[in-house]
Amino acid sequence: MLPGDRSITYSPAFTLVPTYECFNRCSYCNFRREPGEDDWLDLEVARQRLAGFSTVSEPSVGAPKSVSAHSLIEVLILSGEVHPRSSRRGDWLRLIYELCELALDCGFLPHTNAGPLSRAEMAHLSEVNVSMGLMLEQLTPAVLKTVHRYAPSKEPELRLQQLVWAGELGIPFTTGLLLGIGETVADRRETLDAIAEVHRQWGHIQEVILQPHSPGQRQLFPGGACDGDAFLATVELARDILPDSIALQIPPNLAREAPLLRNCLAAGVTDLGGLVPLDEVNPDYEHHSLEQLQTLLLGWGYELKSRLPVYPQYIEGLSPRLRDRCRAIQAAL
Ligand code: SF4
Repeated sequence: MLPGDRSITYSPAFTLVPTYECFNRCSYCNFRREPGEDDWLDLEVARQRLAGFSTVSEPSVGAPKSVSAHSLIEVLILSGEVHPRSSRRGDWLRLIYELCELALDCGFLPHTNAGPLSRAEMAHLSEVNVSMGLMLEQLTPAVLKTVHRYAPSKEPELRLQQLVWAGELGIPFTTGLLLGIGETVADRRETLDAIAEVHRQWGHIQEVILQPHSPGQRQLFPGGACDGDAFLATVELARDILPDSIALQIPPNLAREAPLLRNCLAAGVTDLGGLVPLDEVNPDYEHHSLEQLQTLLLGWGYELKSRLPVYPQYIEGLSPRLRDRCRAIQAAL
């Protein structure tokens, strides 16, 4: 955001979940199902879900001809994780790739977050994603003994490696912190420092999400909601540590009280993330309507603007196919 700019961005998005099954058992999770207890998303079902939003009359003809402020742009492919050594890992990757292709064919821009990937898997999916993401959450090994005790893919080094590979592969990347899961202020600082350091080397971190832990009905972790003052202090800390080129994002449904939301914006939050019909990760927390957010922000002197799931400075670096899609949508906004 330029000095004096009062724009706050959001991504008009819709989520497709290839599978809720996950071999991890994070104790705060309100998303996962046991492997074998979930039918994977059928491509035809996904096609029908996207058809309701698509302005492309015939799939495969390209980008939408016009995009209004309310139109969907991003398809977030959000998946539980199939174990890297599972015989079904290849099928899972294939499904994710095909869902991304489908989203592109329907005129949307895919962004995938499917947990840690191998470098080859990441490179493969980058062919059909304008950006990708993975929450770093917290680097401290302390939470491996608590909330991540049964979550092998929450190994901090593994997740940090994803950020490095994304940099090497030139993938515009979204990451973030989960706050209030037992970490200290020093832990938060360490995680933010690590993100800033990786970005200094590769320049590919487009946004950092600060997600306050918000208890849900299905979780086992008995911890309460992240304290509002501590959350705001982390926003201030993040803005201080992270380079200005990285957008700072909070989910408005998890910072729902107007004073907190306003204070977060004043402290440097520039983005409200994907405004989706259902927050799959926090299903107990409904999003504001777009109109509610617009009214709130306008009253505070901000303008809410839609954006693409890839930030403008990264569009030129995409493959010609993805770049052309982005440009067409940008031109229609
Ligand atoms: S939080 Fe993510 S990685 Fe952890 S169990 Fe839930 S779906 Fe799996």
